[in-house]
Amino acid sequence: MDIKEIVQDLYLKIKDIEDKGNLASYIPELENVDSTSFGVHISTLDNLNFGAGNYQDKFSIQSIVKVLSLVMAYRTLGEELWKRVGVEASGFSFNSLIQLEVENGIPRNPFINAGAIVVADILLSNLKDPKKDFLDFVKNLSNNKNIGYSNKIAASEKEVGYRNAALCNLIKSFGNIENKSADVLDFYFTLCSLEMNCEDLSNLFLFLANDGYTVDDRKQILTRSQTKRINALMQSCGFYDESGEFTFKVGLPGKSGVGGGIVAVHPSQFAIAVWSPKLNKKGNSYRGMRFLEEFTTKSESSIF
Ligand code: GLN
Repeated sequence: MDIKEIVQDLYLKIKDIEDKGNLASYIPELENVDSTSFGVHISTLDNLNFGAGNYQDKFSIQSIVKVLSLVMAYRTLGEELWKRVGVEASGFSFNSLIQLEVENGIPRNPFINAGAIVVADILLSNLKDPKKDFLDFVKNLSNNKNIGYSNKIAASEKEVGYRNAALCNLIKSFGNIENKSADVLDFYFTLCSLEMNCEDLSNLFLFLANDGYTVDDRKQILTRSQTKRINALMQSCGFYDESGEFTFKVGLPGKSGVGGGIVAVHPSQFAIAVWSPKLNKKGNSYRGMRFLEEFTTKSESSIF
């Protein structure tokens, strides 16, 4: 079977399974989405671009943005970055405060909220016009110049962002946040509100399958070594306390978000994005996980 057929068949199969997930209701605006939406898109290095279902409908990418903000911070700070944030799986939920206290405000990794808040602080200190510069970076990486933030979603999250405020202030009390907490949180919520569709997402992440070079114009975004490290982090930390499970069942580096999106990368081959808004108990898309598990099984494309 070829890849298109596998994607299409699995799309039809998983679309009809009972969706046992729930919407991320802790961010009120994320409930205003058609919970039956389901899309998937794959982009390969040998120029296959194929999508099924709602792959052209944009959605809130939420924590998937943490990979892109990390990439931008890594380009800026280089290895110094790892003094401010660790590279170890947390084994706790994405918004947990527990380890931060005992580990002196150094977040376990850049993909839990605490780590992404530190990365947001780094960007805030180093960019002239942080919201615009970050968006320009993403647009330049993507073929779609219409990608943008959702002010509604950012505002909705800000209104109820008590845990993120607690994380940011706790980290600041240890001296690992340079800017004002309110400014860091405003930037973090804005980053999380970025919207795009599955096609944009799989195109955008393709440079991580291509040794750090964009595919169309071979612009170097990261060095080969940095690219390897971002993929390694997605493999070990991309799904919070379900990262082991994703590695076990899917076997690709990837990243999820509470908007129901998941993107996964097969180095030297492809990037694939799935979106289905209802989440499992760990905050990862229920049907997205199921789809990717069956996809790597059928196409024999786990990296292991
Ligand atoms: N913006 C969300 C939050 O901070 C992102 C969480 C996620 O996607 N896992 O809670």
